[in-house]
Amino acid sequence: SFHQIRKHEILQKAHLGQGTRTNIYDGFLLVSKGNELEDDEPSEMNNNSNNQRVILKALDPSHRDIALAFFETASLMSQVSHIHLVFVHGVCVWESENIMVEEFVEHGPLDVCLRRDKLRISAGWKFTVATQLASALSYLEDKNLVHGNVCAKNILLARKGLEERSSPFIKLSDPGVTFTVLSREERVERIPWIAPECIQNVSRLSTAADKWSFGTTLLEICFNGEVPLKERTPSEKERFYEKELGLPEPSCKELATLVGLCHNYNPAGRPSFRTILRDLTQLHPQGVCRSSSLL
Ligand code: ATP
Ligand code: MG
Repeated sequence: SFHQIRKHEILQKAHLGQGTRTNIYDGFLLVSKGNELEDDEPSEMNNNSNNQRVILKALDPSHRDIALAFFETASLMSQVSHIHLVFVHGVCVWESENIMVEEFVEHGPLDVCLRRDKLRISAGWKFTVATQLASALSYLEDKNLVHGNVCAKNILLARKGLEERSSPFIKLSDPGVTFTVLSREERVERIPWIAPECIQNVSRLSTAADKWSFGTTLLEICFNGEVPLKERTPSEKERFYEKELGLPEPSCKELATLVGLCHNYNPAGRPSFRTILRDLTQLHPQGVCRSSSLL
């Protein structure tokens, strides 16, 4: 279950992009001053500085199963509260529209930042991001909740942390339409993020799948937003998993070991996020709270 938002409470602005069966818009969640706002009053009239900047994720017109999966994601995000998880205000269901209303995260997605600012990004910065991500996933693991779509694109930067003595601050975005209802082609497109066991059988989605995706996200971070297997065709990607091949290793030995543990083709063999978080903190104790260039 999630909070229902009424159509007149949101204001849609510029189109920001497209996601998996979604269109993303900039917008505002309008906050009424007291109770003077009548239900039928045009929302533009409500000129209130408490209005919150949000992004609006409008689901494409879809089959009922897809809409239900979208609502499930909204419910998942409504159940959680963590500094490194994005805040979902609720969903606006209006006529045939389903719009998820989510906190606007100022500095956009991590993959773009990694590619754009690679020359300014230190190893310490990368460790901080990895540690914050592991802490959010460890929180979900403790609650027995699965994210299902961990990738650099779905990590948003609330603070860039590129200036002297500042550090990044990330928020993991919602997973969107769960891949369990997507087509096989769409799942194959998610190689190498999607766990191998989830290609054949979507019911294998579990916390272990998030660990695989975490490993691939670590690679994106290490390789400045370059995606392994990007140039491969869908059938080449599928064959890669079938042959149980290994993805390229990052030059940092400790991280390479961690990625290797996450990329175990046997889901049961992957370490817990609690262990991953401990390992990351031991590798780089300052990673949690400040950026440095120790490595
Ligand atoms: P998917 O389920 O595949 O992740 P999606 O609907 O979440 O799909 P994305 O591709 O993740 O769509 O996001 C599209 C773009 O919208 C991103 O590149 C980013 O620029 C922007 N965006 C998404 N969420 C936010 C947010 N909370 N704050 C600011 N910008 C965002
Ligand atoms: Mg997304």
